Amino acid sequence: MPYRTDAQITVELRLLETTDVHGQILPVDYLTNGKDTGAGLARIATLIKQARREAENCLLFDTGDFLQGAPLIDATGQSDSGWTGPHPAIEAMNALAYDAVGLGNHEFNFGVDWLLATLSSAAFPVTCANAIRTPGQTPQHDETLVSQYLIIDRTLRDKVGRMHRLRIGVIGLLPPQITHWDRFHLENRVVSRPIEATARALVPKIRAEGADIVVALAHTGIELQAPFVSEENAALALADVPGIDAILAGHSHLVFPSSDHALIEGVDNERGRLRNVPAVMAGAHGSHLGVLDLTLHKSQEGWTVASSKAEARAVAPERPHPPVVPDPDLCALLEPAHQATSALMQKPLGHNPDGMHTYLSMVRSDPVVQLIARAQRDALYRIVPEETLNDYPVVSAASAFRTGGRGGPAHFTIIPAGPLTLRHASDIYAFPNTLCALILTGRQLWDWLERAAAYFNQVVPGVPDQPLINPFFPGHHFDVIDGLSYEIDLSTPSRYCPDGTRTSHKEHRIVNLRHEAQPIDMEQEFIVATNNFRLHGGAPYASRENIRRVYKSHFPVIEAVKGKLRVMDKAVDAQGAWRFRSLPGTSVVFETGPGLREFPEDINALCLSDLGDTDAGFARFRMEL
Ligand code: MN
Ligand code: MG
Repeated sequence: MPYRTDAQITVELRLLETTDVHGQILPVDYLTNGKDTGAGLARIATLIKQARREAENCLLFDTGDFLQGAPLIDATGQSDSGWTGPHPAIEAMNALAYDAVGLGNHEFNFGVDWLLATLSSAAFPVTCANAIRTPGQTPQHDETLVSQYLIIDRTLRDKVGRMHRLRIGVIGLLPPQITHWDRFHLENRVVSRPIEATARALVPKIRAEGADIVVALAHTGIELQAPFVSEENAALALADVPGIDAILAGHSHLVFPSSDHALIEGVDNERGRLRNVPAVMAGAHGSHLGVLDLTLHKSQEGWTVASSKAEARAVAPERPHPPVVPDPDLCALLEPAHQATSALMQKPLGHNPDGMHTYLSMVRSDPVVQLIARAQRDALYRIVPEETLNDYPVVSAASAFRTGGRGGPAHFTIIPAGPLTLRHASDIYAFPNTLCALILTGRQLWDWLERAAAYFNQVVPGVPDQPLINPFFPGHHFDVIDGLSYEIDLSTPSRYCPDGTRTSHKEHRIVNLRHEAQPIDMEQEFIVATNNFRLHGGAPYASRENIRRVYKSHFPVIEAVKGKLRVMDKAVDAQGAWRFRSLPGTSVVFETGPGLREFPEDINALCLSDLGDTDAGFARFRMEL
């Protein structure tokens, strides 16, 4: 009878993941008077406690983007805020006892010095292998900004109660594009390497140093790699690197396993695997807890993953279930930061003596739109090299976001005269769009404006009271290009449908198009400030992703707007960007919010006639062209 070896040694190890929390810790939306967000790390904390109770051996990780993104941390996180307590995200994560944390791209938004100072109060180790202070010949020789990788020792209990010491290698990775997105902060200070190549070079080293298993804290999404695609979302490529036992992914703000990643080659939503490597991705803004259960077997060769199970647990499961209750201990811990944030949100940024609104953004060159456009222009230095900015004329494309329509007669931006606060910044710019820039010719700008002009119906000269707005065209698609001046000739049919397809019409609605008072040179190149949403196209605009010179960034346009509000002391002069071409004897009718009546000077300036309210509660006005 052969000598009987020990029964199989089996350890169950549970990896918990949060990612892309972006400061959504308490269940409070500071931009809408404290409404419950229905999500947040305080709710995830309840799931963490539960998941820890269920499992013998549990490790908690975060995959990055934990230091930027919501008032609770952005308002208090800066040294000029008056908040002197610990950074609220670090405080929360210390309390939850994370085992290790990886950096995300947004960790660099406030600069390297700020990041390192903020991390100095973390009770958890931080890793990032491809944000490099001093590059070496190979990744093994790089000097990284924070720990290149970690090997954490844990004593884990097996199925029959015996204890085993395991060495868990942890490697943090993030999109190498940080050096573009935060060029302003990182130029001459940090360089990056591609995710997959870095891991290929370092995982054998981590193994050689005795790691029994290796976990990647991968701040990167799951996307099929086409040859020309950047390595921003490289989780699948990472899964091909030998020696990685588990991938905790992030960055794309999606959920894995889930239908978010259906039908991608190499993605197994059933088993929760990427090219056969166990993986999980926990959404964003405190939406999910990633739970990755590994069954580890010990053999002569060491520890291996025998099986796995991945699950992203939502804090707000499908209705009728209410979201899980926020953890009271964490909420109590952050109460001082919450109070400080609430106060900061009311704090004046700048002062506007005239008030602003978007009630007339569809019929005139509008101060709110111009404010956004100029905020974008002012912030371009963050994403475009100075010499490039000097070489081209700069223009900026922007739209109003709250323009009635399907949002209803109250869906307009209204900034009363007086102090401006952070809340007003979010009223003006309620979307998380990021700043981008393109280099386009005068002819391409002309085309951009022709597409925007599909907002309006064609009118017949000499006929009164014709409907102005094409109801199929959402108001927030109506881009104005600040830096140019032009007229819109409504007697001409539109070259574009609201969905961006061409009509059969060859005429131009945009006439008298000028730059610095001179007719625009169609071949001249311009830098256009815009946002990531426009860059990706979408009705009625063309995608610009594949043009030669694009400057993408993760710099939120709302930050640029805030910067503009801080230095504001008088209303934006919006005169002269665009107007309708004069058509004597012709008038149009449009609907706006009844709140316009509180701005009689604006009604008078455009010689509008009040035609009363519609059944839906919109106010109708006549304008002579
Ligand atoms: Mn993120
Ligand atoms: Mg990210």
